[in-house]
Amino acid sequence: LYSDDEKSFNLDLTDLIKKMLKELSFALNKIQAHKLQLLAKEDLRIASYAFEAQEAMTITDIHANIIKVNQAFTDITGYTPEEVIGKNPRVLQSSQHDKLFYQEMWEDLNKNGKWKGEIYNQRKNGEIYPEILSITAIKDESDTITHYIAQFLDISHIKDAQKEAEFKAEHDVLTGIANRAKLLEETERAFNRGRRSNTQHAFMFLDIDNFKQVNDFYGHSIGDQLLIQIASRLNDLIRSEDIIARLGGDEFAIILLDLDSNEHIAVKQASLLAEKIQQRIAEPIIIDSYSFDITFSIGVKLFPDHEKTFQEVISHADIAMYQAKKLGRNQFAFFNHELDIESKRFIMLEKDLKRAIEEQEFELYYQAKIDILTNKILGVEALIRWNHPTKGILYPDSFLDVANDTRLIHDIGNFVIDEACKQLSLWTQEYKEKNYTIAINISAHQFQNSGFTEYIKKSLSKYNTDPTLLELEILEDILIKNMNDTIEKIKTLKALGIKFSIDDFGTGYSSMTYLQKFPIDSIKIDRSFIMEISRKSNQEIVKMIINYAKIFNLHVIAEGVENEFALKFLQDNNCDSYQGYYFSRPIQVKEVEKLFKER
Ligand code: C2E
Ligand code: CA
Ligand code: CA
Repeated sequence: LYSDDEKSFNLDLTDLIKKMLKELSFALNKIQAHKLQLLAKEDLRIASYAFEAQEAMTITDIHANIIKVNQAFTDITGYTPEEVIGKNPRVLQSSQHDKLFYQEMWEDLNKNGKWKGEIYNQRKNGEIYPEILSITAIKDESDTITHYIAQFLDISHIKDAQKEAEFKAEHDVLTGIANRAKLLEETERAFNRGRRSNTQHAFMFLDIDNFKQVNDFYGHSIGDQLLIQIASRLNDLIRSEDIIARLGGDEFAIILLDLDSNEHIAVKQASLLAEKIQQRIAEPIIIDSYSFDITFSIGVKLFPDHEKTFQEVISHADIAMYQAKKLGRNQFAFFNHELDIESKRFIMLEKDLKRAIEEQEFELYYQAKIDILTNKILGVEALIRWNHPTKGILYPDSFLDVANDTRLIHDIGNFVIDEACKQLSLWTQEYKEKNYTIAINISAHQFQNSGFTEYIKKSLSKYNTDPTLLELEILEDILIKNMNDTIEKIKTLKALGIKFSIDDFGTGYSSMTYLQKFPIDSIKIDRSFIMEISRKSNQEIVKMIINYAKIFNLHVIAEGVENEFALKFLQDNNCDSYQGYYFSRPIQVKEVEKLFKER
């Protein structure tokens, strides 16, 4: 605003004064020549009126000696007219500009007749201040310079306000370090510079572990003080040329500039700082006599690398940070590309899964379980399928990992429970004497959820399902975690009549004595042993598992039976039952019912 308005104002005034001075010098000439004495009296009055404007003005002669200054000049510089008239305006010079600056200014002035710019001058009291200065050379009719007029305005108050606004726009109010906007700007600058000059930098994302708990428990005021101290510790650790910023909340970022151009060395340099940060931050922070042990999860991305934009660099550092979080507290991780592909798959799949849950695109397929002695169908295992609108039928291995890592497994798991209970109830009515069972797979997250037992109970009663025909297949790792809780849960469910079996047995801890602690009903020998049962070692393992199962009085079932040979082996070794493509693949309800009727 200022500069635009002032510009037009300056120009008008300059023109006017120029005109006036021309007239004035012309008039003076005439007076000196004793020609027309009273000419231009009116013009003189106007010129001197304009001269006493808000802007400081200095008029010099051709040798740049001051011949006149106005009141504003004295107000700004502190010099009275008497102190400066006859002197060079150099008296105002500060040491802020070099010789070349003035040299160029004079060249410009003499060539173009004017000069305008920002300049730092010095007041009489020694204070240096910024001003906007415009100098105009005054020429006579024969185009030779006769005078110079300098007009200037003290802009220190504008500069101060500007500086304050700039500071606020670029800094985090709480900690005083750079804010998100400034960080983005600096990242972009470093990114572009890196591309041009082949230098390498590191972008570091830092996130305080479990900070929310501090805030929730001690309140925001203590949380804020903690953030201030953390920011100051971080600030002490980095070099002055590096950039540290707070992105809001408990998120910080650091740009390490100009690391070694060798990637391995750069990785080492960044790692070293990450370690240093973790050590320093780990030292207890005392606030209001509370002591806090803080840890950071740190994600690092070196750049420029494969990224096309600086925003991509930041998002990759963010991904690395989440990877570090996954490793536990107080960890740091570098971004890698497989991680990126993986995380993109994860994000897409999560979205797609949410939609699929809403659209009810899941379906249970069933695979028969066969009694080895009688060859009769004992029941089925429910295996989930996703009828994807564009990708066709999807198998659980392609989506359950994402469902497990998000909370979506609960919705999917609940669907499986409901669907199985409903189907079981229907089959119990339809095939009265058969007592077909349904086994469902339960993931660790699902089992550990506090509402799990209740949900099963509700679903059983909703469909009026016989609990003794429902079986839950769980993996060994469920047993290992929270042993006491798990035993309690299994007991509660078993009290209802529900059966338990350990899935994929032989691949995990597989300690029989350990298994004894849990009130389970059967174990399933993992399909990997059965599918390659021609191997001697697998035969030994399977025999051993069957023997142990017998000792502990557990039902033993083998899965993955694909051929006559495997079935024969299991028969010879007293396995109780089996499952596998040899008898039937997992199939839809209608086909299962056909199987039931055939038998
Ligand atoms: P699982 O519980 O070990 O299920 C057995 C897997 O082996 C099934 O794969 C089944 O189709 C496959 N299979 C059965 N017989 C044979 C055979 O003779 N040869 C071969 N090569 N494979 C056979 P599927 O259906 O792809 O399921 C994979 C895993 O996904 C399951 O392993 C289970 O852990 C999990 N899963 C399936 N449905 C659910 C579910 O509803 N909830 C949960 N939480 N997990 C499920
Ligand atoms: Ca299973
Ligand atoms: Ca299995």
